[in-house]
Amino acid sequence: MKPDKQLTTREQIIRCLEAEPMTARDLSKALRISEKDVYSHLPSVEKSIRHLGKHIKTIPCHCLSCGFEFKDRKSFKKPGKCPECKQSRIEAAVFEIVGD
Ligand SMILES: [Zn+2]
Repeated sequence: MKPDKQLTTREQIIRCLEAEPMTARDLSKALRISEKDVYSHLPSVEKSIRHLGKHIKTIPCHCLSCGFEFKDRKSFKKPGKCPECKQSRIEAAVFEIVGD
């Protein structure tokens, strides 16, 4: 989906994630911002959709080496290393905006 120039970055993220599940990388490409910026916007995105009865559903990151899932992760950011096998081949989390 094409980003709309009239919208703020936060609104564009909301539009994208309501349309389809995306990773931070997908969002960074779609909105032409860095992945770091995507992660920095996600907490405020979540706050701003809460009163609409929506939330960000996260399919957690998982380790490509051993399959460990980062289920209890509070932060949106991608972990650097797997706590189980200490590898850094981590599959990115997928975000989607859904109703509560
Ligand atoms: Zn692992």
